[in-house]
Amino acid sequence: MTRIAAVITALDAGEAERQARTALSRGADLAEIRLDHLANPSVGAVRRLAAAVGSRSIATLRSRAQGGGPGSADTRRDSLLREMSAARFAYLDIELRADGGRATDLTRRAKRHRGIVIVSHHFDRPTDAATIEDTLEACAAVGDVAKVAVPVGDVDAAIQIVDLQRRSGRNHPTTLIGTGIEGTITRVLAEDSGQETQYVALGGAALLGQLPLAVARRLRGRKPTVLGLVGHPLGHSLSPAIHEASLDALRLPAVYLPFDVTAESLDALLLAADRLRVRGFNVTIPYKEAIAPKLDELDGDAERLGAVNTVVVSDGWTKGYNTDVFGFRVSLRSFGLRVGDRTALVLGAGGAAKSVVDVLLREGATVQVANRSLVHAESLAEGFNETVEVLPIDSLPRRGPWDLLVNATPVGTKGFPPGPPVPDAVVAKAGFVYDLGYNPSATPLLGAAKRLGKPGSSGLEMLLHQAAKSFELWTGRPAAVDAMRRAAKEALG
Ligand code: NAP
Repeated sequence: MTRIAAVITALDAGEAERQARTALSRGADLAEIRLDHLANPSVGAVRRLAAAVGSRSIATLRSRAQGGGPGSADTRRDSLLREMSAARFAYLDIELRADGGRATDLTRRAKRHRGIVIVSHHFDRPTDAATIEDTLEACAAVGDVAKVAVPVGDVDAAIQIVDLQRRSGRNHPTTLIGTGIEGTITRVLAEDSGQETQYVALGGAALLGQLPLAVARRLRGRKPTVLGLVGHPLGHSLSPAIHEASLDALRLPAVYLPFDVTAESLDALLLAADRLRVRGFNVTIPYKEAIAPKLDELDGDAERLGAVNTVVVSDGWTKGYNTDVFGFRVSLRSFGLRVGDRTALVLGAGGAAKSVVDVLLREGATVQVANRSLVHAESLAEGFNETVEVLPIDSLPRRGPWDLLVNATPVGTKGFPPGPPVPDAVVAKAGFVYDLGYNPSATPLLGAAKRLGKPGSSGLEMLLHQAAKSFELWTGRPAAVDAMRRAAKEALG
């Protein structure tokens, strides 16, 4: 079984020992003691740590060239490694490039106390599959375990790493990791793909993409389910935080990952979903409409609107749903807003706008839409049987009033152009201002509403309700909505 190793990067030996003990008591199988992170790695520190926690530790002295910490101690590498190999650490990590010449001597010393030798290599840039395979073979030729880490910049590269790990792991004990946020899935699938060791963070993620120990423990010994969010960009989204909170509260063996993809990578992800154990994902800006024709089947609301925010993957079959419709409808109720016979202006003509217009029309509202590109708004309007009037953006100060103004554009959301999306003269004509944006919670549009004495709300309630519905579709379990709400509020500060 894959062993879970918590990476310890403390600055002094005492703290490293304390953290290693904590990690082991919290269920890690091993502590990887990164001696290169000690401010001054010394023979004394090596001996102390080996005596205290060595039988359940990996001793690593990463060189500066391979991403070592402040105490890489390259000039004293030889003597420190000799000490580390003789000390009773369960594992010794040596480097293919820096230590190849002394590998035989170090291995002989480690074997005297049955130490296992990991031979590692860390690429500093994305690398082709053939080079990765050759490097794994070279590591395996010298060590008991071959460990290779490669930065991955996109989901295609992550898929390649998982496939390579599966192949190589059959021939030799191997740990092949994709580093960086896009590589997280290679760490999630550590056990599933046969990695020898799963390197995790003791607290929050130490390295981008590293899983926290608690998440690795949640997945351990159970087939992992991968859920996630597909879109670009994703920095504003609270979906990872809230779904993780729900998975954690229910102790489900699943993770929710961000998949920041190009249109081409989206195809690759759909094709590889099954072997990556992806059982479902949310879809956000800008793919809600673009993904619909790529799926095998669409559920009622998704089919009617041609907009998908949730995909369920089952035995390679992809089915699209639209839980934004549900989320928006429930959020109106939670605000006590009755929109039948009322007038509404919707800003935007994308996937979210479609769901909003659909709900408003079905509740009996009179709906007008304004959007940056008029033609997109016209095509949205044509998709409905009821009349939806399209207004040019610059005509808005002369139109209205509206009982409800809904912003279904990303303007004013973190990472997108700052708002508000319409001038005060338009906001002043709205009865209630509803910004689907929720990050920041006080969006520029809501700031304008407040200044003008208008009631309003961010999209947080909608987010939580659509998320809870998606969660249920993937897991068959009701979501832990309270945990989701707490996580959202915490993330928003
Ligand atoms: P989408 O399908 O990509 O549509 C984006 C819409 O916004 C399009 O109408 C686009 O206009 C317009 N737009 C984009 N950038 C703009 C800019 N700089 N200035 C003016 N208009 C701009 O995206 P979506 O999925 O509908 O999402 C829209 C927003 O709603 C996002 O911020 C998303 O986070 C939010 N949302 C929130 C929730 C929630 O639960 N609270 C749910 C869904 C969506 P063009 O047609 O001219 O490109």
